Amino acid sequence: MPSLVATQLNTSLPDRSWEDTAACRTATNAAAIFFSEDLGDIAHAKSICADCVVLAECLEGALDRREPWGVWGGQVFLNGRMLAVKRRRGRPPKTPRPGDLMPVVSVPAHLAEQARRLTA
Ligand code: SF4
Repeated sequence: MPSLVATQLNTSLPDRSWEDTAACRTATNAAAIFFSEDLGDIAHAKSICADCVVLAECLEGALDRREPWGVWGGQVFLNGRMLAVKRRRGRPPKTPRPGDLMPVVSVPAHLAEQARRLTA
């Protein structure tokens, strides 16, 4: 017979089993690239997300939690907001550097409105 705590935990915690199939689980140096300021790292993280089978679940959770930092669901978060564009510090160059070009990862249709409200 399960304990009361286990029963309560089983009924109150969201199902996060989808995390087992996350593409970032097997990525090399995932923490460093998903929580980096470097545009090349961020682009790499977004490209991993683009092929992730649980992108929608991940992005929905990040939007709900208003993630303070990092790449989640193919999007860049800062201070609980989804950034439309992540730029290098300082004056932008006249022609973008190759490393500054970010992969565009689409927001799933059912999350579009929530994402739009939280986009900075
Ligand atoms: S979408 Fe989420 S779970 Fe998938 S690779 Fe990106 S950060 Fe990881």
